[in-house]
Amino acid sequence: MPIATTNPATGQLLKSYEPMSAEQIDAAIDRADVAFRDLQATTLAQRAQWMNAAADLLDAERDATARLMTTEMGKTYVAAQAEVTKCATACRFYAANAERMLADEPADAGAVKARRAFVRYQPIGPVLAVMPWNFPLWQVMRFAAPALMAGNTGLLKHASNVPQTALYLEELFRRAGFPEGAFTTLLVGSEAVDRILSDPRVRAATLTGSEGAGRSIGQIAGRELKKTVLELGGSDPFVVMPSADLDRAAEVATTARCQNNGQSCIAAKRFIVHTDVFDAFAEKFAANMSALRVGDPMDENTDVGPLASEGGRDEIHAQVQDAVDHGATVLCGGEKPAGAGWFYPPTVVTDLNPQMRMWSEEVFGPVAGLFRVSSYAEAIEVANGTAFGLGSNAWTTDPQEQERFAVDLDAGSVFINGMTTSYPELPFGGVKNSGYGRELSALGMREFCNTKTVWVG
Ligand code: NAP
Repeated sequence: MPIATTNPATGQLLKSYEPMSAEQIDAAIDRADVAFRDLQATTLAQRAQWMNAAADLLDAERDATARLMTTEMGKTYVAAQAEVTKCATACRFYAANAERMLADEPADAGAVKARRAFVRYQPIGPVLAVMPWNFPLWQVMRFAAPALMAGNTGLLKHASNVPQTALYLEELFRRAGFPEGAFTTLLVGSEAVDRILSDPRVRAATLTGSEGAGRSIGQIAGRELKKTVLELGGSDPFVVMPSADLDRAAEVATTARCQNNGQSCIAAKRFIVHTDVFDAFAEKFAANMSALRVGDPMDENTDVGPLASEGGRDEIHAQVQDAVDHGATVLCGGEKPAGAGWFYPPTVVTDLNPQMRMWSEEVFGPVAGLFRVSSYAEAIEVANGTAFGLGSNAWTTDPQEQERFAVDLDAGSVFINGMTTSYPELPFGGVKNSGYGRELSALGMREFCNTKTVWVG
């Protein structure tokens, strides 16, 4: 992939970059290594002050940063503004809570025959962050804010289509006061990842991206015996049971599928509806999806902007076509529009079967698969019936059913009667082919810490 900004709303190439040379990469890793040692000499209070300064810069520069993201990957300007604000909130959250999250944890000294015993969390060094374009600021921030507060340094290999947002992030932390090298953007393609992760100065890697990238980085890290956190794809189920508030469920289903132009890992993708309420839900859902306004992402009245790339649009259209070829029914959308920009209409497809790609693959665009089930057991079977296990949704007002869903859905999170969302306060991650490890909360911060046992006799 060329490292370039191409506006998805027009298809116009705006700016391109030469990838960094091997020498430039080496120098950047060296700076990250030196900065790691510099950071050890700083206090948590000092790092919190810089992190709060980064939050203030984000707030002050919200609109320009949002415009940049919309230009690079096509999310609506309104959504981009909200993303900047969310990043500022996360910076402040980790600035305020890092001390608590990293505090020594005393153990029962008598039980371990010590005078004193405790667990200490210490940073491990430069961490490579390989990140996707879909939330170009937030995906990076949810790694960077806890990692920098813990005293690690970050080397960002961002997606090749968001280089300007990547460069903005490096500048943001430098202007906030973090030492030179504490957070560095490497303008490189994915082929450079092996060399970077093999470097002994780089201690670990975090990837948010596709299953394929996860397998590749996991292999390199396995060979090099380095820790990884992998946040990969998902095909989240959204289960609707007979007791659900159908109007609310259909409304949230629409947002959950089409947020970020349908390109969210935790977007609800498979809508699994009990037969007693299937027709009523399908009608409301298809009506809501059809009513969404597709168009210029800078227009405040637009709900759904373009897909981030032409290849991404071709892929989802091929998945819809494949379903239709195998007998699926399209309730709305499904036609690729003519004209400039990589737009795709909100689409609902039903009568799916296991021969269709949409049954088991992730669909990364505003296309919903609608499944009819006749019991709780069948809902769970379909919901858990893919290789993914990122987020999940269930809609039911029956308290016992809520408890059962919380246990039975095989996913990194279960949201009952609400949309799956990431919060700085809650751990985020998946099971099965959606990856492993957690971001956010104290768990996310400690992923890149040495959990050191200290025993004093
Ligand atoms: P992608 O192709 O895997 O790209 C993500 C990042 O990985 C980019 O920086 C990319 O670099 C790099 N990359 C790709 N292949 C690589 C390889 N073989 N070795 C090393 N690095 C590699 O993902 P995408 O298609 O752009 O993004 C969508 C996917 O990300 C979806 O599956 C989505 O569900 C997932 N995602 C998951 C989460 C989560 O939290 N679990 C969040 C957001 C997105 P280049 O751009 O240079 O190719």
